[in-house]
This record gives sequence, structure tokens and C-alpha cells, in this order.
Amino acid sequence: MRDSHRKDIDGHELHPESLSMGYAYHPEWSEGALKSPVFQTSTFAFASAEEGKRFFAIAYGLQEDTEEEPAGLIYSRINNPDLEILEDRMAMWEGTEMGLAFASGMAAITTTLLSFLRPGDVILHSCPLYGGTDHLVSETLEEFDITAVSFSASMSREEIEAKLAREAPGRRLKMVYVETPANPTNDLIDISMAAEIAASNGQGRTRPLVVVDNTFLGPLFQRPLEHGADIVLYSATKFLGGHSDLIAGIAVGSREALKPVAATRTFMGTMADPWTGWLLMRSLETLSLRMNRQAENAARVASFLRDHPKVLKVRYLGFLDSGHPQYELFKRQCRGAGAMISFEVEDGEAGAFRFLNALSLVSLAVSLGGTESLAEHPFTMTHAGVDIDHKLANGVTPGLVRLSVGVEHPDDLIADLANALGNV
Ligand code: PLP
Repeated sequence: MRDSHRKDIDGHELHPESLSMGYAYHPEWSEGALKSPVFQTSTFAFASAEEGKRFFAIAYGLQEDTEEEPAGLIYSRINNPDLEILEDRMAMWEGTEMGLAFASGMAAITTTLLSFLRPGDVILHSCPLYGGTDHLVSETLEEFDITAVSFSASMSREEIEAKLAREAPGRRLKMVYVETPANPTNDLIDISMAAEIAASNGQGRTRPLVVVDNTFLGPLFQRPLEHGADIVLYSATKFLGGHSDLIAGIAVGSREALKPVAATRTFMGTMADPWTGWLLMRSLETLSLRMNRQAENAARVASFLRDHPKVLKVRYLGFLDSGHPQYELFKRQCRGAGAMISFEVEDGEAGAFRFLNALSLVSLAVSLGGTESLAEHPFTMTHAGVDIDHKLANGVTPGLVRLSVGVEHPDDLIADLANALGNV
């Protein structure tokens, strides 16, 4: 049997694009089926009672798995081939050891945070965050006596540490949580600076973890683990899934970092289902094709928007030039500008609504990263629940529109945007 985990040909290292179709799957497992079937089953039959005992002992950490006595399939809340193959492929894309698939991006975030944070702890997080994550850290976790301290992209390390000391004196920093680029402003946060803050607040097992939400750029355009992150999270609903037809989440990182998260997932039951795992495997085969095309389209669309008289400001990573304070960080941390654009139209909410209501090819819907372009109004939609002062301080204004650029013909997108801007 061919080694399905092999990543090279005679020393030549293969790229994730080439491995996405077959990595971590053996046709021999499934009657020679080239593609993994959907293992639509809740449970797995053991060959013997002894085997069942051993699988549970390994799952509960009572016994190490070895080549002679490997871990086995038990129950689809614990493991399932469609999730395991997907998880191996996600780890392969990020160049790390382990992946975990979840029922949603929020399930990945919640399960990860609750694996490490305890009453009395502090989570230091970037701002703005996706509205759901913002609610989780600033409302839900507060009810468990976990203090959230926020910082914005414009703050220096010294300013952030001073704010941390001021707002959570005597409390233990347990996690630095970064969403970069930030939803919806495209603000960049320096992951290596987050890692330095973590390192100065503990060592070894007491060092706070650095967790990065990499939903906007994906493994194609940003690799947070290479900049000091411990765990990378995704709403796989977005670019990873890529077709606006599933809800899922992913966590990737070293085995050591993710083991506690795997255990929490098992007991909270926040894993993805086999069919979603299968769909995501299919999506990963075209991840590079889709994201590159979307990024090319976004560059065209952003240039059009920048030159339009009704557009006051465009927030797009491709426009960070050498004079911009985030230019150096972009060059160091990102491999591409991605396909997310936020822009401010004239006349605040009224202008934004006239624009959104006049779109015809671009759909007026939340979410992002799919093959079709989507536009929404963060101030009243995805970030409706965020504190209004926080929104305004971080550029989430009533006139801001968020655009996720799809794979359509760029001329058609520009025609639609030009027509809708005529209504502002
Ligand atoms: N993180 C970011 C950056 C997001 O934009 C979203 C959703 O929009 C989430 C996390 C949550 O993901 P999900 O909707 O899959 O739960």
C-alpha cells in the first residue's frame, strides 16, 4: 500500500495543492474508491472486546498508541474517517501536526477558549473582532469571571501591556487572541508581537497561548504558526468551504497545543458531521484556485472603488504602500492581500443602504469567502451587538460596506458596483 502521508517524491517536497486530492486516504480502505466515501455512521464495530477496550484506553489517554497497537475508530463524536482525513489535510496545509474539525467557526473558537480559560483568568484580544467572537469574549466569558482586555492595531506593545496591567491587575493572562486581518476593517495585528507579550507573561506550561483567527486570509496568504501562534482557528464556512453551502470550523496546531481542545470537543460534542467533513475535503482541492482568482478579482474591484467619487475610503490590504504604518507588517506577515474589501460610502447608513439595495449580481448577505460575491453592512448586521463606541473607535462606521469578492468575471462585478454606487 502506498504511503498516503508521504509529502515528497524522491526528496522533492510536494505542495498542498498537489496533496489535497489524496493525502491521508487509501483507496484500499474503501473497495478501491478513488475518493473517500462519506462514512455516514454514528458508531464503529470493534473486531473484539479487547480491541474496543484498547481503543477507549488510547482515547482516554490511559495508553499510548503505537505502530503495533494504533488508535482506532470508536464513535463519530470522537472520530470519523471523513473528519480525520480532512484534519490531516488541514494540518498539511499549515505545515503542522494536528487539525480538528468543528460544527462551526464559533464552535472551534468556543471549544478552544473553554479548553484553557478558567475563572479568574484574562484573555487579551485584538479589536475589532467578528461580532460573534466579540459577544463571546466580552459578554459570555465575563459571566464566568474571565476578564477580556482589548487592544487595537494602532497600539504599541508598551501601550497594550500598560492597558493589561491597568484593566486586569493581579490577574493571570492565559491567552492572547488575535483576529488578523480584522473583520470588517482589514486591520492587521502583529502575531509576533502577540507572541512576545505571551512570552513575557509566563514560561513553559504557564506561558499564555497565542490563538489566531485566520479566516480572512487562509493558509494560502497567511501562516500564523510561522509567526509564533500556537493555535490557528478558522470559520471553515468561509474560504475553506468556499461555496456558501456549509457551516464548519477548523483548529490547527501542534499535538501538544491541540490535545486539550480535542478532549473538550469530545465532551462538548462540537465536532463537525461526516458529510460536512466530506464537503470540506472536496473544497480544499480547489482552495488555491478559488482564493487566487478571488484575490485577483479583489485587486481589480478595489482599484475601481478607490477611483469612484462616491467612495470615501477603501480598506484593502493591497493598498498598503510603503508610506503606510502597516506596510512593513503586511510584507512580513502576509503572502497576499486576499479578497476582502471594506469601503466607506457617502451619506452614512442611508448611503450604504441605497448602495446595498441596488446591487444585482452581488448578493446582499452576511458571510464571506464563497465563490459568489457578497456585500453587507457591518454596523447594523454582523457587528450589530458590538459596543457602539468600540465600533466607531475602530472604524466600523455607519457608512462602511463589507464586500467579499467571488470568482465572477471582474468586469461584471465592476458593472454591478458602478450601477449600485450611482444610487448612493
Ligand atoms: N471568525 C470570523 C473572522 C468570522 O467572520 C466568522 C463568521 O462570520 C466566524 C469566526 C464565525 O464562524 P461561523 O459563522 O462559521 O461560526
